[in-house]
Amino acid sequence: MRIDHLVPAALYDFGAVLARAGFQAWIVGGAIRNLVLGREPSDWDAATDARPEDVMRAFRRTVPTGVKHGTVTVFWRDLQIETTTFRVEEGYADGRRPDRVSFTPDIREDLKRRDFTMNSMALNLATREFLDPHDGLGDLGRRLVRAIGNPLERFDEDGLRPLRAVRFAGQLGYAIDGPTFEAIGSSLHRFRAVSSERVRDEFAKILLSARPSYGIGLLERSGLLAEFLPELAACRGVEQGGLHSFDVFDHLAAACDAAPPVLELRLAALLHDLGKPGRKAGDAEGGFSFHRHEEDSARMVKGILPRLKFPNLVTERVERLARHHMFSYSDEWTDAAVRRFVARVGEDLVEDLLALRVADSAALAGTPPEPRGVESFRKRIEAVLAASRVLGVKDLAVSGDDLASVGVPKGPVMGRLLAELLETVMDDPSLNERERLLLIAERIKPKYGLS
Ligand code: ATP
Ligand code: MG
Repeated sequence: MRIDHLVPAALYDFGAVLARAGFQAWIVGGAIRNLVLGREPSDWDAATDARPEDVMRAFRRTVPTGVKHGTVTVFWRDLQIETTTFRVEEGYADGRRPDRVSFTPDIREDLKRRDFTMNSMALNLATREFLDPHDGLGDLGRRLVRAIGNPLERFDEDGLRPLRAVRFAGQLGYAIDGPTFEAIGSSLHRFRAVSSERVRDEFAKILLSARPSYGIGLLERSGLLAEFLPELAACRGVEQGGLHSFDVFDHLAAACDAAPPVLELRLAALLHDLGKPGRKAGDAEGGFSFHRHEEDSARMVKGILPRLKFPNLVTERVERLARHHMFSYSDEWTDAAVRRFVARVGEDLVEDLLALRVADSAALAGTPPEPRGVESFRKRIEAVLAASRVLGVKDLAVSGDDLASVGVPKGPVMGRLLAELLETVMDDPSLNERERLLLIAERIKPKYGLS
């Protein structure tokens, strides 16, 4: 395989620096895999017989990212190169992290401890030798994810590897080799011990792949999903009837496929109906209803995403998307109703909520996403907001200080009075003038126990 001409010149210069100091430098891991597949590498991993301290001496800009495991990040020209000393790993007592790592002068030993055959190819930056001791090329050709060595032992060493197998299969649309797939089911106790942060990172990559439903299906069939997202696994077999062709599980997976590849949107698509299994009831026509499931979904999102260590900002937005996904717009909505909708959802979330609706509709029967379905609502929102942007108390033409000057004490009562003024102005934006609002405030004051 010739891929050396695809490697940027700056990397060869990086290799030359190590060569001058008497060390080997190889490009390894995902970058090689991607170059072989004709894809753009997302990052560069290098392997070397130089010790971390040697690497830090050889380059001016370095960060000791994980010196204990032999990794130094080298900033070289416009590149950032994770540079790791050849190593063998021994003794994974907890199935999470090697107890000890020892360095080795032999790249082949280093390639042996890597997870999958497709991840154990290497290119020498000095000689341009291409090394593929575990037939990664063959497995790429066969479109197979296959563990190096005995999959049971390899998964027992590090319980994240089963999830990585699904991640690579999901990203590439490959199958997982039989024995490797079977070993996942026997390694779930090891997977359970893995840190949530590591699980999150692999899971996010599955969600952001071209067709997440494929990786999600593998997660389900391997038993991994029930370990870290049992709430989703519980949606299997929950039939919905009506316009739906799928059970709740396949509907959510299809919505995920149809959503744009943005983490929040993919998460919202995957989780927005989690409340359905607990809310399923028969309706009068012999169908099903899932009354107020969106509230349960939102609550569940609030439990799940922090548990999986997603950032609070992501949780907060996905929670709101789940909570508000059941709107049902028609042209009969008044301007005030449109304004209230935007105020309730939050203007910052409206675009994403429309995108979620497009994905949700596509996932009724697995049809392609149809953005035109929300076009009239989007246009209406734009028009209404162009006429008046009063969506919150801060947009009112009176402030708390103004109200205080007409005898409204600061505190909860003022909050309620401002809320009523906001409702009034959302009904009729022309009232949003300081004098008029002060007059209205005078008139409604007695309701709040003020004279
Ligand atoms: P990506 O394109 O997503 O970065 P990658 O293959 O580079 O994919 P990384 O997580 O960056 O994945 O890891 C770099 C390399 O380190 C892998 O290709 C693999 O050789 C090795 N590796 C990473 N994690 C493990 C692990 N848990 N067990 C064994 N080898 C691993
Ligand atoms: Mg990588």
